[in-house]
Amino acid sequence: MSNDKRDNFSNPGLDPPPPPYSSSESSQIVPPNESTRLHSPNTKHYSATPNLTYHSPQREQVHAEIPQPLPLFVEQSPVLLQDLRTEPCITICPHCKQIVLSSTKFKSGSATYLTSLTLLVLGLTSWGCCLIPFCVNNLKDCVHSCPKCGKVMAKYSRIDGKVYRHRE
Ligand SMILES: [Zn+2]
Repeated sequence: MSNDKRDNFSNPGLDPPPPPYSSSESSQIVPPNESTRLHSPNTKHYSATPNLTYHSPQREQVHAEIPQPLPLFVEQSPVLLQDLRTEPCITICPHCKQIVLSSTKFKSGSATYLTSLTLLVLGLTSWGCCLIPFCVNNLKDCVHSCPKCGKVMAKYSRIDGKVYRHRE
């Protein structure tokens, strides 16, 4: 029985180990965390990386916007009736006062008749050679008409290279 009492006395000798160490360790842990926050390079990296990413898209947008708008304004300016030739042009109709793309038709004019007459004089009558000028658009006058009101705006004459405005 006495042996049991000795064992009871010997057991409490193992218990005493310290709670105060845990409190001292927790107080020591705090300052290194603060020091790591102040010295941590993470805050510097976050400020540096977004600056690099913002610069690249701005440069791409500037290069893409410059070349587009310039050629469009030059082509859309209306042409005066005096400057019309043999191709459809954007001009102002003198009848309905609207900006339209003129529709062109070739009609035989004085240049056409003059060329066929010279062919007759030269004796090129065989195989209908004197009728060739009536099939060549380069020897015909060009008539510009308005696609909206359907009226004739002007006529480009081949023989003198002038534009004659059509009068009602
Ligand atoms: Zn018109």
